Amino acid sequence: MLKIINPANGRVLAELPQDDAASIAGKVRAARAVQPTWAATPLPDRLTAIRRFREGVVRDAERLAAILTSEVGKPIRQARNELNGLLGRIDFFLEQTEAALAERQVHAETGLRELITHEPLGVVGNISAWNYPYFVGANVFIPALLTGNAVLYKPSEFATLTGLEIGQLMHVAGVPQDAFAVLVGAGAVGAELLKQPLDGLFFTGSYATGARVAQELGPRMVKLQLELGGKDPTYVCDDVDPAAAAASLADGAMYNTGQSCCSVERIYVHEKIHDTFVSAFVKEVKGFKLGDPSHEDTYIGPLTRAPQLDVLERQVADAKAKGARLLAGGKRLAGPGNWFEPTVFAGVDHSMELMREESFGPIIGIQKVADDTEAVRLMNDTEYGLTAGVYTRDEERARRLLAQVHAGSVYWNCCDRVSPRLPWSGVGHSGIGLTLSTYGIETFTRLKAWHLRD
Ligand code: NDP
Repeated sequence: MLKIINPANGRVLAELPQDDAASIAGKVRAARAVQPTWAATPLPDRLTAIRRFREGVVRDAERLAAILTSEVGKPIRQARNELNGLLGRIDFFLEQTEAALAERQVHAETGLRELITHEPLGVVGNISAWNYPYFVGANVFIPALLTGNAVLYKPSEFATLTGLEIGQLMHVAGVPQDAFAVLVGAGAVGAELLKQPLDGLFFTGSYATGARVAQELGPRMVKLQLELGGKDPTYVCDDVDPAAAAASLADGAMYNTGQSCCSVERIYVHEKIHDTFVSAFVKEVKGFKLGDPSHEDTYIGPLTRAPQLDVLERQVADAKAKGARLLAGGKRLAGPGNWFEPTVFAGVDHSMELMREESFGPIIGIQKVADDTEAVRLMNDTEYGLTAGVYTRDEERARRLLAQVHAGSVYWNCCDRVSPRLPWSGVGHSGIGLTLSTYGIETFTRLKAWHLRD
């Protein structure tokens, strides 16, 4: 049985039977059987099913938000924000899928036409993360279904109740039971899914697990997308209002208790405004309310996974030992539940784990830099490349710097932001492939090239 535990208080929320090798194989076989029928369902009918799914989310929003808060510890207002944001993503896919799937004539001459069409991949696996289960799930399963694929959806074990709710809403909305199957269980269930005959695998999670997934599927030539972690940097230039930049970046670092793939994880500040920025940043962080995530005014909740407390403790000890200055927080709180104080360090450098390894929690290092050149060098001193940002009044300066940074998304005067209209992708250990934008619809299809002579 899989125990679902409330990370705020350690209480067991539910005990659920897990999938095993036989049930997973059965779901994959059933998905394979139904997929051609689902793909042959006219697009307007598939769109209607997803529209009904959206209606279900709106109808049940408050209940879904409460479930999300109870199993991942996301503060309730942030849980509602995720559900609201989900609606915008669904709308984007509803509006764009028909055009993205349209047949394209790319050449015509007497007696010859060349066309491109899109075909569904077939049966795809979707192994998802717990930190934004609606967002990172929907980036995959909505366009995958709209383009005619059958989906084996494996939510993270830490977001299982949410995953089951999503499955239920899909089926009530009219997506055939076998075209969207939810797999219940921990990592071993994900690993078992990888052994199945799949036409595509879309994974969101850590670099370590992503690398294992790639090793398993690479030799089998299964289409693979990996949306992985980050160590996302921001550079604050000398021409900004330090207090305004600090307010924006404190939110970017601590929102969702620092457990966003695009959380700000490293901050570099020009020496001219460094000290003022740091004071303003610490003031912001000390103003964040930590507490019961079901309370309306809570901003920082518990960590979803208990082992991450050890990672944060290790990063704190390492930073202190190497001479960093601890300005706020720095320790776990007594249980029950997985609580860690929002933590700020200044005087950090790249010898410290805090500035090199993904923290995925409410902790941040702030480093002083002498100029733009040093800032860009440090921003690029990482194996990851998900997002990066620059705060300055000068757009030209921001664009010049951001053009040199290796990252899938870049931000000028903003951070921790995802748009359904823009591709979401990573460089290096942050992954391969992309979701979102119209490219993130086409990615669930196989392009067929037509050479037509008449
Ligand atoms: P994990 O890598 O621990 O897990 C990701 C998923 O893989 C989970 O469903 C997990 O199941 C499953 N899994 C675990 N082991 C295996 C295995 N051997 N084979 C197949 N599947 C397996 O990541 P987290 O869930 O902890 O998510 C946090 C990470 O995700 C962070 O690094 C974050 O940056 C990244 N992320 C990236 C995003 C992006 O868009 N680039 C978006 C969101 C998160 P289970 O949980 O049940 O063990």
